[in-house]
Amino acid sequence: MSLNEQIQTTSQPGETGEGGRVTLAHGDGIGREIMESAMAILEAAGAGLEYDIIRVGKEVYLEGHSSGISPEAWDVLRRNRVFLKGPITTPQGGGYKSLNVTIRKTLGLYANVRPCRAFSPYVKSHFPDMDLVVIRENEEDLYAGIEHQQTAEVVQCLKLVSRPGCERLIRYAFEYARAYGRRKVTCMTKDNIMKLTDGLFHSVFDEVARDYPDIEAEHFIIDIGAALLADSPGRFDVVVTLNLYGDIISDITAQVAGSVGLGGSANIGSRISMFEAIHGSAPDIADKGIANPSGLINAACMMLAHLGRPRVAERIQNALLCTLEDGIHTGDLYNEAYTKQKVGTEGFTRAVIERLGREPARLKPVRMGEQRAPIEVLPRPVAPADKKLVGVDVFLDWADGNRNPSELGHRLEQIAGGKLQLKMITNRGVKVYPDGFPETFCTDHWRCRFVSHDSEVSSSGSGMSFAAPVDYSDITALLQRLMAEGLHFIKIENLYEIGGRRAYSLGQGE
Ligand code: NAD
Repeated sequence: MSLNEQIQTTSQPGETGEGGRVTLAHGDGIGREIMESAMAILEAAGAGLEYDIIRVGKEVYLEGHSSGISPEAWDVLRRNRVFLKGPITTPQGGGYKSLNVTIRKTLGLYANVRPCRAFSPYVKSHFPDMDLVVIRENEEDLYAGIEHQQTAEVVQCLKLVSRPGCERLIRYAFEYARAYGRRKVTCMTKDNIMKLTDGLFHSVFDEVARDYPDIEAEHFIIDIGAALLADSPGRFDVVVTLNLYGDIISDITAQVAGSVGLGGSANIGSRISMFEAIHGSAPDIADKGIANPSGLINAACMMLAHLGRPRVAERIQNALLCTLEDGIHTGDLYNEAYTKQKVGTEGFTRAVIERLGREPARLKPVRMGEQRAPIEVLPRPVAPADKKLVGVDVFLDWADGNRNPSELGHRLEQIAGGKLQLKMITNRGVKVYPDGFPETFCTDHWRCRFVSHDSEVSSSGSGMSFAAPVDYSDITALLQRLMAEGLHFIKIENLYEIGGRRAYSLGQGE
């Protein structure tokens, strides 16, 4: 398929120019229906946009592009500042990569912003005062997609978290709070368990919070934080968190607010940003003309604000609120008390257009404030630090005999040598040698820690350690001795001190 067939250009009347040029993809499932609705409303409101339309999603996957997007479409995406995307279906089965994750990571869309507001009583919600924003890290964490099966019994997924990634996202959350008049930013992590990865996110949050004394900052462990979001969302304002937790809690908050059909989201990058509804392609109701277009309309309004057209966004959002208030509802919002007219996608679209210029009587009208420049946050360079090699974790695939950890330990004591001594063996993170418990279940996956002879970790909890350095050649010699003894290593992780501090976890019960 040629570029010309892939891309059509549609001009809309009104204000155009570089800032008004939008890449647009209808997506699939209900995508075409709700995108046509959003485009009609944008045009009627005088948004003045020009569109470069690209194809993404199911049909592109099935044409043989495993990431759901053709190489030509990337050129268009990179040319424009913003991308309005309909939902897409990821075909079932192996070999298909999630296009959403690919786009977010490839274009550096580091912040996923998901406002969540209740429209009670017109849309049923237990929490009429709920009005919060989830800001989710969008590029790192378990979404790197680096997974391996290492033994017959064990698979692993790498969780990667970087200081620049944390800092940029967390600064964005505080800048967002300031720009939109929000008073509090809540961080959620699981740093009681993941002390290095989630611990980094939490410590960067504490550092950045000090630069914003006008904004209240607090932290919750993600489990109680998610429970509180489901139980008392009114106590939250802006929530900032890692990728996986953000994915989960933003669906909880959307559902708790009333309907996943209402939420829009922005994926913010330093040059390009993408706007989409939070829901998926809803194949169960596709082509029936009954989908609620509100999520995509709200996403389009976030895009207008980003493009410096807050007045148009405000007009559209207030017309949408009037429509809800007048009881004109799509099926997903239907309720006996407040629905006066149940409509399909087209009827809902017409109702919003008829109400452009009106303000809601009971629901709080949307005020976007003055036109503001997009929030720009650049990560600060991280100063290089002294890095000292002090040992190695060798992961073994071992299923001999009755998997007795003491047997493996005694063999490894013999194999250790040079500057490296065996410190401990763990199985799925539980210490099994020395002094393991016979009750501990052991898989075929063993982490064997070898450290420098003179290693001594401070017990003060400061993370300071005073180990003698080892050489890379000590590690390769150890691996060769393991191979010679018929012990199969799956992978190794070097143990370092960085900036004078232990840069690895001690393991269970640390
Ligand atoms: P979904 O959000 O598509 O649907 C969940 C339920 O909500 C369905 O019952 C659906 O009918 C309803 N629903 C969703 N949007 C609605 C709307 N606008 N109006 C009325 N009802 C609506 O989630 P799913 O069924 O788990 O996923 C379907 C497909 O969408 C999957 O292939 C998934 O990978 C994909 N997906 C894409 C995105 C995206 O493109 N950003 C996001 C999530 C899921």
